[in-house]
Amino acid sequence: MNSWPTLYLPPLPGSISFPELLLTTPFGDRRYSGTDAIRMYVCGITPYDATHLGHAATYVAFDVINRYFSAQGRKVDFVENITDIDEPLLERAERDSIDWKDLAADQIALYESDMTALRVLPPLAFVPATKVMDLVSEAISVMHSNGFVYQLEKDFYFDISSFLQGLPIPYDEALEVFGQRGGDPQRSGKRNPLDPILWLANKPGEPGWESVHGFGRPGWHIECCVIALRYLTGPQFLQRASSEFSIDIQGGGSDLIFPHHFMSAAQSSAITGIPFSFSFVNTGMVGLDGEKMSKSKGNLVFVSRLLAQGVDPMVIRFALLNGHYSSDRMWNNDLLLQAEADVAEIRAALSREEVAETLPVLQSIVSAIARDLDTQSALVAVKQWAKATQSGHLGGSAGELSRGLDLLLGLAL
Ligand code: ZN
Repeated sequence: MNSWPTLYLPPLPGSISFPELLLTTPFGDRRYSGTDAIRMYVCGITPYDATHLGHAATYVAFDVINRYFSAQGRKVDFVENITDIDEPLLERAERDSIDWKDLAADQIALYESDMTALRVLPPLAFVPATKVMDLVSEAISVMHSNGFVYQLEKDFYFDISSFLQGLPIPYDEALEVFGQRGGDPQRSGKRNPLDPILWLANKPGEPGWESVHGFGRPGWHIECCVIALRYLTGPQFLQRASSEFSIDIQGGGSDLIFPHHFMSAAQSSAITGIPFSFSFVNTGMVGLDGEKMSKSKGNLVFVSRLLAQGVDPMVIRFALLNGHYSSDRMWNNDLLLQAEADVAEIRAALSREEVAETLPVLQSIVSAIARDLDTQSALVAVKQWAKATQSGHLGGSAGELSRGLDLLLGLAL
């Protein structure tokens, strides 16, 4: 599927040095040395409620990672999926008496325009789950012959037993979370309550696809597993022909650590025989005014609504960067007002003919990002530069800093 338009990445002065990027993960710190291409997969939206600020914070964070590797001169193979067939999408379509395909198409278009406004670099492949049904079915057959699949009535389940030692949370907690996030731990007849569905037989009136596993649709985790492997490692992954079927970064919100990322990774290993990802990188949750932001509370803040109210997308991006990507954080209107004031001050400084030295600021931004995306410190450096410029310091180039802000932070100011 075509994604949104790509953007020109301006060059940085050659004297800027790039430390190796360090990111924290649920399984410890990871450093990205070397110059090889990076394979990055970020879990995309279910297109029925796009794009709230939690989504935006996630995609902006992975965009900063993408931009850092690109600025280093590394190729970034970045793939994102669209979960365009899933229970919540069908439920919302039914509630609103709209065809689920139309709802998905509208929400995908809205998401793309939000990402364009926020200057998020598009993925190389933006893949809807409905486009990989045959591949999912083939992957289930491979897992079946490898001994990881069993049938329960007309449905097919993944046998998770050999992966349980890698659970990121205690088993009892996992059971509870699994039930809350799309799993069916209570269904009788399963080998283990945590076994996730791979292929769900069609229920009357619901969409389905023909396959060797019957008419139905896939579970959520197998979709991401197959899209990541196919679009980042190539079509041979089903033949286990090489040991190259691993990716560098599996990304998404911290609510995906379990069960989604755990299950996708287990299923990938069941196909290829090797670990799925070098690292799992997760973004924190964004709350509103002291409360968790959620569909059920009805307090989601949507990017498109802020834009419709006339909020500058660069102010939204600045506000999102002014917090740490992996921490849970709160959103409120004061953050937006503060970002508006900061952006105005930086723009005023960038518009002056004589500005304070810019190379040290660029180096501070790069070094801050390399330290687990410390974008907050990067912005502090830029604000200090604006203040120095206002007080008459000289010796820099506004164009040079402006290009650097665009390249590294995606801020076109
Ligand atoms: Zn996913």
